[in-house]
Amino acid sequence: MIKYIFPFRCVLCGIGVSSLGFCQGCWVQTEFISSPLCSVCGDPLEYWAKDALCNVCYAFPSPLVLHRSVWKYGASIKQLIFKFKHSHQIWLTEFFGHQMLRLLLEYCAQTTLIIPVPLHRKRLIQRGFNQALLLARWLSQHTGIPCDYTSLKRVKDTDSQGSKTASERYLNVEGAFQYTPQPFHFSEKVLLIDDVYTTGATLKACTNALKEKKVTTVWGITLSKVVIKEDRHLNSQIVMNHGGNKI
Ligand SMILES: [Zn+2]
Ligand SMILES: [Zn+2]
Repeated sequence: MIKYIFPFRCVLCGIGVSSLGFCQGCWVQTEFISSPLCSVCGDPLEYWAKDALCNVCYAFPSPLVLHRSVWKYGASIKQLIFKFKHSHQIWLTEFFGHQMLRLLLEYCAQTTLIIPVPLHRKRLIQRGFNQALLLARWLSQHTGIPCDYTSLKRVKDTDSQGSKTASERYLNVEGAFQYTPQPFHFSEKVLLIDDVYTTGATLKACTNALKEKKVTTVWGITLSKVVIKEDRHLNSQIVMNHGGNKI
């Protein structure tokens, strides 16, 4: 009987719930990102204003037209993404996909091609799958927008971004991506998919690679965004502490 009332498991703690998602206890520990937002990177702002920019986007214009993320990066989301990436819990794709689809429809419905942020071959062999590709393919299947997961390649085996400062992150991914579009897969309007946006260095490096090959408009959607309230400057010495986890 209980099985019929609670046919699903909470994606985080595993207790019975009535629909795919969080139980009430886990729900209150997660923070969905909501307006007002920086019109470019999607960082929460204190006041709403048309085309408002956060300090980072104001000082360092982004090559992306827009990025949006589902959740603020916190302990619960970190744990959930870790489960997805490192414990092979790929059934979470369905749950994550629905959350990202909402953002796709709201912010970048003009997308004509979806591209996942690629892993380097070496990392792909270690992990066995690319989590961004699972999400991109799910979105493609549910929108009919084609997904190209072969043309953008990570050609440099970059160190983990986990313990780097903002400026080190940018240097680490410089020249790391190469885009060789296939004629049947080319689009000027591309949506990039990744799991976590910390400084945006990875998405921006991918965008620059796409723009070298005549892509004009690039959006980005991620599951989670690191939101830093103070000192958001690019060269700040803030170290993104992921607790040693491979994010
Ligand atoms: Zn729960
Ligand atoms: Zn911003």
